[in-house]
Amino acid sequence: MSGKPGHAGVIHTPWIWHNGDFVPWDSANLHVMSHVVHYGSSVFEGIRCYATREGPSLLRLDDHLRRLLDSCRIHRIPVEYDVAFLRDACCKLFERNELEEGYLRPLVLRGEGAVGIHPGDARVETFLICWPWGAYLGKDAHEAGVDACVSTWFRPAPNTHPTLAKCAGNYPLAQLMKMEAAQNGYTEAIALAPDGTVSEASAQNVFLVKGGILYTPPADGSMLSGITRDSTIVLAQDAGIAVREERIPREKLYICDELFLTGTATEITPVRSVDRIPVAGGTRGPITELLQRRLLEVAMGRAPDPHGWRTVVRGRRSTRVA
Ligand code: PMP
Repeated sequence: MSGKPGHAGVIHTPWIWHNGDFVPWDSANLHVMSHVVHYGSSVFEGIRCYATREGPSLLRLDDHLRRLLDSCRIHRIPVEYDVAFLRDACCKLFERNELEEGYLRPLVLRGEGAVGIHPGDARVETFLICWPWGAYLGKDAHEAGVDACVSTWFRPAPNTHPTLAKCAGNYPLAQLMKMEAAQNGYTEAIALAPDGTVSEASAQNVFLVKGGILYTPPADGSMLSGITRDSTIVLAQDAGIAVREERIPREKLYICDELFLTGTATEITPVRSVDRIPVAGGTRGPITELLQRRLLEVAMGRAPDPHGWRTVVRGRRSTRVA
């Protein structure tokens, strides 16, 4: 990989996939009159690729691509590719960029062709971008945990912004949450649902442990149904841990035994305090550590993959390791 550092430390890779072709990083541009620039009309994914003995391995690639196409469906974006085609293109992109591990950002957007709200004939453009990306919440976060606050911002009510779609237009809220948190000295913000119960963080789902039981809020229309959330539930069940998807009152954040966030970029990251109240002892708890370890073992090919979560990039083919 012969990348060079660009803005904000993002390492540029040589190639970006655009509508079926590979174009140099610096040529993957949009016109300012693209519909997405004005109205937030794009859907996207974030996928991690791990270095394994068998080669670079994309975690839950098909599930992410399915969610991408679901997001297109919800937002009526006519995309011409299916999961198999995109899977192959993603693998070729990693191959071509000679990237062993990193982050993959599939993006489908409405481009030029409409100036009003109705997207009309705005051209649909598909991009696949990959680059090296380390720990999202900081180098020590996986072990030491992060400080979070409860946001003053609420997540949207069902039937407002469709939160099962990973649409760019949903993310100004996440930015407000994150900026407010940073301003007040926190790393992350946990938002409440319109009914005042716990919803999700700026780009992570929320889990807590109380009395040996793992709790997470239900996908109630106020949050994105995370793929790492699903992996965490499955790994917990595989380990014999009881899991309950139920509404969580805010104050349970202050009295739980363990609290952690899940997301593709974040992986599983402990929360050590909420609103400056330490979570239990303020150190990573045993269930958090177990689930972190199990997730990374599967992702990095150090454990069997009973659920078929790994897609290994081998040459110009992709192989799902079942
Ligand atoms: N919620 C939001 C709003 C997100 O942006 C993300 C990151 N994609 C998540 C939750 C976690 O989802 P996933 O585990 O699929 O990355």
